[in-house]
Amino acid sequence: MTASPAGSASAQPRTFLPPEMLPRDGRFGSGPSKVRPEQVEALTRLATTWLGTSHRQAPVRAAVGELREGLARFFALPDGYEVVLGNGGASAFWDIASLCLVRERSQHVVIGEFSAKFAAATSAAPFLAEPDVRRAEPGHATSPHAVTDVDAYAWPHNETSTGVMLPVERVGAGDQLVLVDGTSAAGGTRLDPSQVDAYYFAPQKSFAADGGLWFALLSPAAIERVERLRGSRWVPAILDLHAAIENSRKDQTLNTPALATIALMREQVRWLNERGGQEWAAARCAQSTGIVYDWARAHELATPFVAEESARSTVVATIDFDERVDAAALAATLRAHGVVDLEPYRKLGRNQLRVGVFPAVEPDDVRALTACIDAVLAEGSVLVR
Ligand SMILES: *Cc1c(COP(=O)(O)O)cnc(C)c1O
Repeated sequence: MTASPAGSASAQPRTFLPPEMLPRDGRFGSGPSKVRPEQVEALTRLATTWLGTSHRQAPVRAAVGELREGLARFFALPDGYEVVLGNGGASAFWDIASLCLVRERSQHVVIGEFSAKFAAATSAAPFLAEPDVRRAEPGHATSPHAVTDVDAYAWPHNETSTGVMLPVERVGAGDQLVLVDGTSAAGGTRLDPSQVDAYYFAPQKSFAADGGLWFALLSPAAIERVERLRGSRWVPAILDLHAAIENSRKDQTLNTPALATIALMREQVRWLNERGGQEWAAARCAQSTGIVYDWARAHELATPFVAEESARSTVVATIDFDERVDAAALAATLRAHGVVDLEPYRKLGRNQLRVGVFPAVEPDDVRALTACIDAVLAEGSVLVR
């Protein structure tokens, strides 16, 4: 074969992996992520009675109510915390928080693409002061710092673009709020909600549903901030957190939500709670990422991208490959076998695989994945000469 530069996806898959070697389910995406077939079966059971019915009527509101209660149970929410939801995904929540939670100035930990987007939102908001931004290079962690001239601290629990996980521990004092992006971490890691005032996430990662909605666990202090800021600036109705809180209290959303997403997520939250909730989910995801990290440490052509062990994500494992490996060709070979979405975050530009192992993923499938990678590397067609 002719040498293909590391990072190109040009190589044709040559390796043949026998079916018995493959993971039973080949979806390892970091979002959208594996949806369990049982969730889809549960959705099918609603096909003629519930799907396609009004979100203002009791059956759909009951499902939203069950989902909100299921999340409150999963996270063991302290008294006074509320589960709020709306349309637009986690990205919408950055604008919602800029409008309805940040009073004058926020501090942001920026360690990758997702955390950068919230900082860009508050920076662009004409009614807010330039944010205090604490950056680290991709693959590294850094922490928020208590200062007196901010009223909100923001960081990602899991920076999905790099696989760096940060602790969620309160910083600051008085009425300074803690706003944590829990998308991808929520549902697959442990969280002490008393450490945070707004913990927000989208359903297409650890909760194994489709995208399009955002959820936020709001503390009494966050709700109070929303009330106090009301009327102080123009807020588009679709981004109005006050309206979302009021609707959520009635198990509704401001406008029509995707009912299928609600049903898929309700099923996943039921499943998680039945199995032991947060503890069970966190242990399972840590086991799965542990399989990937241990494999990478032992393989001479692979290393965990996140050098600092304590910062390694327990839901999204990023693995760098030696320059002798064309990681894009490796991903393409696996994709040709139905083992998909292992490509690294597009803007990171590394010779890397990224493995999303949310609670829906079976640890045995992760073991099968590493065996498949071993086989492809041993066969040699993705090696650069
Ligand atoms: C996926 C992701 C988002 C974006 O979620 P959307 O629902 O697509 O807006 C935000 N933050 C993190 C940490 C993510 O992983």
